[in-house]
Amino acid sequence: MRRKLIAGNWKMNGSLAANAVLLDGIKSELPQASCDVAICAPAPYLAQCKSVLTGTPVSWGAQDVSEHESGAYTGEVAAAMLTDFGCTYVIVGHSERRSYHGETSERVAAKAARAIKSGLVPIVCVGESLEEREAGKTDSVVGAQLDAVLSVLGADGCGKMVIAYEPVWAIGTGKTATPQMAQDVHAVLRARVAALNPAAAETVQILYGGSMKPDNARELLAMQDIDGGLIGGAALKAADFLAIIRSA
Ligand code: 13P
Repeated sequence: MRRKLIAGNWKMNGSLAANAVLLDGIKSELPQASCDVAICAPAPYLAQCKSVLTGTPVSWGAQDVSEHESGAYTGEVAAAMLTDFGCTYVIVGHSERRSYHGETSERVAAKAARAIKSGLVPIVCVGESLEEREAGKTDSVVGAQLDAVLSVLGADGCGKMVIAYEPVWAIGTGKTATPQMAQDVHAVLRARVAALNPAAAETVQILYGGSMKPDNARELLAMQDIDGGLIGGAALKAADFLAIIRSA
């Protein structure tokens, strides 16, 4: 039985004052967690997460990382810097980075490999656009995105990541994949991992992301291959994030 992971992706939101209220709300009402819980905050707030969340069951992480170890890469953040601030996770390949920052699957794979090398768990995001779904290309698009990462991580590394299926058309739109639509894609992704490492496929957590809210989380999380959620908007309100945690 895989443990579920509920991870919040704050995206480019927050302030010291607002985060203090949000983190306090989550910490004080956190149910006896039967699932893993994490918050992926903007890099400047990782120190705040470390100071507020250390000693709680809530882990934290970043939303991106450089594929390089260190050096002359102005504006980039190294994986070792994230571990310095106590991060467990880092999101790589979010569709917003793929589309607004031109990140290719090869670059995403290099970032995932760098994260693992530094002891971080990469949350590798894949997902199709509406156009791709309507053209019947969902499985091939997400399959190719995942294969690029699997080929770099190899059989040993592929069990050290988390996968997030985030259909682009469902992100921030209020449109959610139906539980069955999501389940079908999750099964495809797990089969890709199984082709490389059957044991890793049994344990790898595959999260769903895209307008997951308190009122649809339970039915999504009940599906066989949905092992948690990557939550955007609903992670910015303690009550909503906690409600999703309780449905896991
Ligand atoms: P929303 O939950 O706001 O749709 O965002 C999902 C997402 O992109 C999480 O990474």
